[in-house]
Amino acid sequence: MFKKLLIANRGEIACRIIRTAKRLGIKTVAVYSEADRDALHVDMADEAVLIGPAAAAQSYLDMDKIIAAAKETGAEAIHPGYGFLSENAAFAKALEKAGIVFVGPNPRAIEAMGDKIESKKLAAKAKVSTVPGHLGVIEDAAAAVKIADDIGYPVMIKRSAGGGGKGMRIAYSKKDVAEGFASSQSEAKSSFGDDRVFIEKFIEEPRHIEIQVLGDKHGNVIHLAERECSIQRRNQKVIEEAPSPFLDAKTREAMGAEAVALAKAVDYDTAGTVEFIVDKDRNFYFLEMTTRLQVEHPVTELVTGLDLVEQMLRVADGEKLSIKQKDVKLTGSAIESRIYAEDPVRNFMPSTGRLVRFQPPELGIEDGVTTRLDTGVEEGGEISVYYDPMIAKLITHAPKRAEAIEQMGRALDAFAIDGFRHNIPFLAVLMRNERWRKGDISTKFIEEEFPDGFHPPVPRGRVRDVLAAVAASIDYLSNNRRRMITQQMHGEPVRFSDIRVVELGADHVRVRVAGRDYPMTVTLGRGRDRRAPADRLTSSWWFGEPVWRGTIGGEEVAVQVRSIVNGVHLTYQGVEAPVRVFTDREVELLALMPIKEKPDTSKLLLCPMPGLVMSLAVEEGQEVAAGETLCVVEAMKMENVLKAERDGTVSKILVKPGDSLNVDAVILEFE
Ligand code: ADP
Ligand code: ADP
Ligand code: MG
Repeated sequence: MFKKLLIANRGEIACRIIRTAKRLGIKTVAVYSEADRDALHVDMADEAVLIGPAAAAQSYLDMDKIIAAAKETGAEAIHPGYGFLSENAAFAKALEKAGIVFVGPNPRAIEAMGDKIESKKLAAKAKVSTVPGHLGVIEDAAAAVKIADDIGYPVMIKRSAGGGGKGMRIAYSKKDVAEGFASSQSEAKSSFGDDRVFIEKFIEEPRHIEIQVLGDKHGNVIHLAERECSIQRRNQKVIEEAPSPFLDAKTREAMGAEAVALAKAVDYDTAGTVEFIVDKDRNFYFLEMTTRLQVEHPVTELVTGLDLVEQMLRVADGEKLSIKQKDVKLTGSAIESRIYAEDPVRNFMPSTGRLVRFQPPELGIEDGVTTRLDTGVEEGGEISVYYDPMIAKLITHAPKRAEAIEQMGRALDAFAIDGFRHNIPFLAVLMRNERWRKGDISTKFIEEEFPDGFHPPVPRGRVRDVLAAVAASIDYLSNNRRRMITQQMHGEPVRFSDIRVVELGADHVRVRVAGRDYPMTVTLGRGRDRRAPADRLTSSWWFGEPVWRGTIGGEEVAVQVRSIVNGVHLTYQGVEAPVRVFTDREVELLALMPIKEKPDTSKLLLCPMPGLVMSLAVEEGQEVAAGETLCVVEAMKMENVLKAERDGTVSKILVKPGDSLNVDAVILEFE
């Protein structure tokens, strides 16, 4: 085995690779950009080399600098992770020339699979079922319409190069095809410098199910079963799981066999993934092959017990696969949640900032249930605009799918992150979604379940009771602490039983708290007369802790607590609410307080996320119609087109291209 490995990546995947290398006794070299001086992967590695400025093109994508860093440190091998140079055949070839081992597939396999049209031709030759469609470049819109007519509607227009869900259009009619062809072609050109597009049948409500394959340099290829990745937004994965709740043994075996056949056809010699879409009748069709370690590989690791990075390092070193197909056994069920720095309430727009708090849930194995965190950040770190907004992955594994989901829900509740917007509340709500729990999902799931975007749910039922009980107990502790501090009761905590009114948003709940410290008894009353059964609260929470952990009526609960003026802001199961606790008299007086009005922002265009102004499409004095483009702002690899919400006249423009804006900065004003 080689003695020193360079990791040509950053973030969670760099840390993940370093962890396995350390376990195998391999020395590690990190590379980093100027923006990543204090990054976790730099800390974790034995050595680190600065390779350039923040922009990826001048650092993590710069082959020459990375190869120079390997030579300078004497690293014999390079693991590219995912993204960046991982699927770059020229990089694999350059390493071959430099005598450095590429921990990835041979360059021919990358080339063959890097192009959707070519890889589909290859797949068809290897007898792999592909989406019905036209396996060739389409010249113009007229040809596109003719082909779409032949295939039958709906169809999908796709670009051949690139990835990441870009430049794909669904067409239901001739008119859609003509339009979609032009826009898909131009997006393909601008994103990937390659305007070849093709057309295939659009499979309605499909599932995205992919097969993990593993090969060595001796012609052996096996598969490690499937991952289901149907929960997507903008054709990008959010939650993945293994095994799929939808596949039966027969389909799994058939898909596995086709994936292995395809891998063998390109002499595949490392870990890779063959992606399929599967329709309602379990017909499956090849989509593409990703010739690298995938983001969601941990769910496969947890159900197979294998370390995929270790397998990649071993086969890269020339070892034969030590496992045969029949040795692959699936145990239990694993779920992965991708934690993104993005605002679920603002259509998942990326968010940036300093990690003021990063307190993960308890990790490890307890009662046969595993909780794993793959992270690339730590408290005090910075989320910048330069890189991917995915900051960590939380993974759970349990004997049964339902238990893995339960544990994911609990772990998300206990995961405290402050400093920017993130999608944990969204994930926490998803974990309690009935359709998801039943496994009744498709790639349309998020669109269907959240048709007007994500709105944090209002406290109701049991969730409301939990929030009220926790707030009441905290108020009790607080009063008690105050009495002790001021010595009003000679330092003696008093035992008292008192009625309070808990205000949760617009809702009021009457409660009675009894006990000293925890355990306490909290009784929630619905009216003056009716009395609900009392709940016993146990906890060891104390002021300053961001997560209230304890039991309520015997049930384990984790509620996030942030202080606000005269109260606390609580989050539980994705439900967030400011909560204040009053006496009856205080409630009466509160009703007399004047209400402060919010400033009117309806005549302003505000920047929805921190980013860079790319271009302005309007001038002062210009009349615009609803839907017209006003401005383009770039943030975290995404161009965000800001459009007019209604007709109006632009009266004033406050920014210019090149300006760097904070969230809610005023871009322009309307009359
Ligand atoms: P996976 O295919 O492993 O499930 P993604 O499709 O989300 O995961 O891609 C993983 C990461 O790789 C992305 O978050 C992105 O950073 C990067 N990536 C993948 N494809 C591209 C691409 N075509 N252009 C730029 N970055 C990409
Ligand atoms: P990318 O290169 O962007 O990863 P893929 O071909 O892997 O492109 O497709 C990404 C996603 O788009 C899939 O997971 C699926 O949700 C959807 N998709 C792709 N092709 C089709 C199709 N023919 N019918 C329906 N959905 C599709
Ligand atoms: Mg894909």
